[in-house]
Amino acid sequence: MNDIPIIPLPLGPEKHIALIAHDTKKADLLRWAYENKEELGRHALCGTGTTAKLLTRKTGLPVRGYNSGPLGGDQQIGARIAEGRIDFMIFFWDPLAAQPHDPDVKALLRVAVLYNIPIAMNEASADFMLTSSYMDTDYERLVPNYNQAIADRFAELKD
Ligand code: PGA
Repeated sequence: MNDIPIIPLPLGPEKHIALIAHDTKKADLLRWAYENKEELGRHALCGTGTTAKLLTRKTGLPVRGYNSGPLGGDQQIGARIAEGRIDFMIFFWDPLAAQPHDPDVKALLRVAVLYNIPIAMNEASADFMLTSSYMDTDYERLVPNYNQAIADRFAELKD
């Protein structure tokens, strides 16, 4: 598809944040979330199954849990991003170990980039993102308007 039109989609002051950590990174994410629970508490949180449960236990914050990552949780989160229901992601993935669900991880990262949502993949990025002034304001992310592209294509093929 060439010349895909771009539309601005709002990221409101309350972000819908997905949190995910591979097993070897869970302790880092839990500590980081605990240190930042005041800011995280201003947003709507969700995560893959095990990460979400551990985060709730550690921080006391409500974190909606999807399936565990290897059981489809990454794909569920990717689908919510495509639907516009998740607009921010913190994903501490393990750069030193292959995962059984590597294809799902790749697909999730691709969709997150496609929809131009902020993604932190390590602690330093998460620190920078969470302290950004955009955290508590509106932000317009630009995304490809595939609906318009499909409608244009349909009209073109019909003629
Ligand atoms: P988990 O999934 O939070 O259920 O452990 C994370 C992942 O491995 O993607």
